[in-house]
Amino acid sequence: ASCMNPAWRVFFALAPGPRARARLHDLAGELAAGLPARIVPAANLHLTLLFVGRVSPVRLGDLALAGQRAAASVAPMTLAIARIGWFGRADVVWAGPARMPASLGALHAGLAGECRAAGLPFDRRPFAPHLTLLRKARRAPDTHDAAIEPPIAMPVRRLVLMRSVSEPGGVRYRPLASWPLAGRAAGS
Ligand code: ATP
Ligand code: MG
Repeated sequence: ASCMNPAWRVFFALAPGPRARARLHDLAGELAAGLPARIVPAANLHLTLLFVGRVSPVRLGDLALAGQRAAASVAPMTLAIARIGWFGRADVVWAGPARMPASLGALHAGLAGECRAAGLPFDRRPFAPHLTLLRKARRAPDTHDAAIEPPIAMPVRRLVLMRSVSEPGGVRYRPLASWPLAGRAAGS
């Protein structure tokens, strides 16, 4: 059956809108200036909420239900991308929120809960929200652990299920489905 149903590599993510995407890509260019590294193409910029991994496409319906349910209970938000960091083990330079916004933690936890209930695989390591800006960065940028001033506002209205596809020119992410964040904002 595996040859009739090859597994897909999938993950849940947030995609920056055009303004945030452009600012993040500019920042990546600045950070790469003093550093041997590969800049992530603007089209690939994303924040991974939950990495699912290899699943058969027959499970797309279950993934869609998990995504829809998780998105339904969290309100739209605007993330303040305020910090630059370096994952030395992965040679990755990233940008992310300075602190974990409660709504982002809730979205991650909601997705993990839905996937667990549906018997879907997922990465169980602690959630460290970030957008990868540079790959193959063998050292930290000078601005490692620095603040982004002013922070990049990243409005988030939809949760996206992505498929990761390896192509000769590099990895590409194809949106498979998306759902509006439809929860009520706290206090409104
Ligand atoms: P490539 O692996 O081809 O260099 P990539 O890492 O961007 O490119 P994927 O490995 O498919 O592409 O990963 C897709 C997203 O999921 C990325 O944000 C990546 O950081 C994240 N990711 C990949 N593997 C894991 C994992 N085991 N656990 C958690 N997140 C992961
Ligand atoms: Mg990878």
